[in-house]
Amino acid sequence: MSTLRFHAVKASLERTPIKIKEPNRRSSIFGTNVFNETAMRQYLTKDAFVSVLEAIEKGAKIDRVIADHISTGMKEWALSKGATHYTHWFQPLTGATAEKHDAFFETISGGVAIEKFDGGQLVQQEPDASSFPNGGIRNTFEARGYTAWDPTSPAFIYGTTLCIPTVFVAYTGEALDYKTPLLRALQAVDNAAVAVCKYFDKNVKKVNASLGWEQEYFLIDSALAASRPDISLTGRTLLGHSSAKGQQLDDHYFGTIPNRAMAYMRDLETECMLLGIPVKTRHNEVAPNQFELAPIYEEANLAVDHNSLLMDVMHKVAIRHNFKVLLHEKPFAGVNGSGKHNNWSLSTDTGVNLLSPGKTPMSNLQFLTFFINTIKAVRENEELLRAAIASASNDHRLGANEAPPAIISVFIGDQLTKVLEELETVTKGKLSPQEKTDLKLNVVGKIPEILLDNTDRNRTSPFAFTGNKFEFRAVGSTANCANPMTVLNTIVAKQLIDFKEEVDALIDKKSMKKDDAVFNVLREYIKQSKAILFEGNGYGDAWEKEAKKRGLSNNKTTPEALKVKISKASIALFEGLGVMNKVESEARYEIEMEEYILHVQIESRVLGDIARNHVVPTAVRYQNVLIENVKGLKEIYGTGFKKLAKEQLTLIEEISEHIEAINSAVTNMTAERKTANNLSTLENKASNYCDKVKPFFEVIRYHCDKLELLIDDELWPLTKYRELLFTK
Ligand code: ADP
Ligand code: MG
Repeated sequence: MSTLRFHAVKASLERTPIKIKEPNRRSSIFGTNVFNETAMRQYLTKDAFVSVLEAIEKGAKIDRVIADHISTGMKEWALSKGATHYTHWFQPLTGATAEKHDAFFETISGGVAIEKFDGGQLVQQEPDASSFPNGGIRNTFEARGYTAWDPTSPAFIYGTTLCIPTVFVAYTGEALDYKTPLLRALQAVDNAAVAVCKYFDKNVKKVNASLGWEQEYFLIDSALAASRPDISLTGRTLLGHSSAKGQQLDDHYFGTIPNRAMAYMRDLETECMLLGIPVKTRHNEVAPNQFELAPIYEEANLAVDHNSLLMDVMHKVAIRHNFKVLLHEKPFAGVNGSGKHNNWSLSTDTGVNLLSPGKTPMSNLQFLTFFINTIKAVRENEELLRAAIASASNDHRLGANEAPPAIISVFIGDQLTKVLEELETVTKGKLSPQEKTDLKLNVVGKIPEILLDNTDRNRTSPFAFTGNKFEFRAVGSTANCANPMTVLNTIVAKQLIDFKEEVDALIDKKSMKKDDAVFNVLREYIKQSKAILFEGNGYGDAWEKEAKKRGLSNNKTTPEALKVKISKASIALFEGLGVMNKVESEARYEIEMEEYILHVQIESRVLGDIARNHVVPTAVRYQNVLIENVKGLKEIYGTGFKKLAKEQLTLIEEISEHIEAINSAVTNMTAERKTANNLSTLENKASNYCDKVKPFFEVIRYHCDKLELLIDDELWPLTKYRELLFTK
């Protein structure tokens, strides 16, 4: 009997929901552990408070003396909440979050100790961070990078630690994290969008990008998860025959949330409330034991921090509930994987969502301007967007018939398609008063009405307009949103800058009126962007063919998808807007390629190990049982045994065939790994891992899964899909 598996199953069956502490009203605890405006008002001097606000709103620099005041206030607040340590909290290029805790505690002369935290400690630190990936930016012999406070994301307390959100940069100035380029991209889109807004409203001074992510995940009993080496080491199952019942009946989606999962969610949501993460929605997802959590959207930088923090908190709270959270994009074959839709829009400091149709023709022209420019930005940079969501784990999801394809396209719905068709026929040059009136009344003016009943949704689109925002659906569930958000905001910024130049040129050189010029440029953009608009089924083969005809990229694997990151055009784009210089772009490319290689390498090793050391020995053991049985039959029945032992003999042979197939595949896979490891360039290594090593996964899995069906359930060592997915 396979002890670990059955112990795990037994433990999981004996569990009951954990009792949790909850406030009566969630709003009463919202942000209690955040150094937010209320806390700042209470703990900061007036000057210090104003200075932080100006830093948040206008990016103003904080004076060193004031920084000392802020740190003192922050420390007092943190101590009052029971914090003993502080940490600069940052997002290195591993995609996870990092922290190194220091105590407030310091000794002074005479054997006396005090709690100390000064402006210097708040503003800047130098973690010995030589082991973080840096893509060659920082040689390890001068492992000098520093973290610097980002006042736009408030400090918070987690456990007993004051966490200060920071950027992470090398002493030579290059960004070593995800946040720095994001902040620069947000600045770029702010500047570019404000300039365009001025055509419509002179009062706009700031434009914020907003992000509302939707986090999908699986919850698996911790004992069951621990019984599977593949889940423990790679976050997904590398083998396992599908359960007879999967998601065919659609009986999990939006169904009643199981009790244990519900207790977990409520506990998690309480933690989120304390941390100021405005979580709002929870529900079951399509696959068994799959769920989703979504917040109210926030300013993009804060939303990115909150998602990173959430992923960490999810793991921590899960431990209390004897769960393991699987954030992997494809933990189980045969049922849906997980994504992280990024809902994105732009809004002004005057309270206008630029992607929401307005009440007047003028505000609708503004809406159309931002709407069409976004589509054009995606058209011109579809490959970059694809690259922004590329990872070894997301490769399992994109293009696998349940998630958006690897082809980027934009869905806008029937109604807006019609609007664009009409705008495309606008007269070249100056518009007649009649045409303008007509446009304003019948096309631009009609938008709010039509959008209300624009309920058509296309779940197969990777980038869909959903009424007042775009939803980038191809982002993977493990992703740090900073990467896709940096790219999206950068390409839109660039597009808006180009747009303004073209409109201004028509106004200045052709002495056109402003709205004539806007209509003229938008008309051309609609024509140029057509190839990216697609309303049909993104999962179909027909779309793959059609997309190819349209010249759209279809980069199915990460090594292929990442290439564009170091193309001349991409480097120039990021450099031109001050988001990333050449070194930073190249470093990220290298790190992501390296990460891809390592992921596939680890999975390959784990799979080889499980196949050889768990599956094959079990198969041999069961085969021996059969052989004993055949021998016994022969002993009793003599020559007549053959008829009686027919099935057993076939099984014995089948088992041998599978064992042979597994062993030779593992041997060949190992040889390919060795070859790949000896290749000198990253490109060759990555493509060898992708094209030569990875294909063995399926072969090995196929034979292991067949054995799972043949072998006595009592002997099978690996916890089965039905146990992993249907234990509630
Ligand atoms: P669904 O896409 O599942 O139908 P909703 O449309 O209600 O759900 O919203 C999904 C997510 O979009 C939520 O996280 C929500 O906060 C976010 N969202 C709504 N409006 C905006 C916006 N203007 N900008 C960014 N995100 C938004
Ligand atoms: Mg959604």
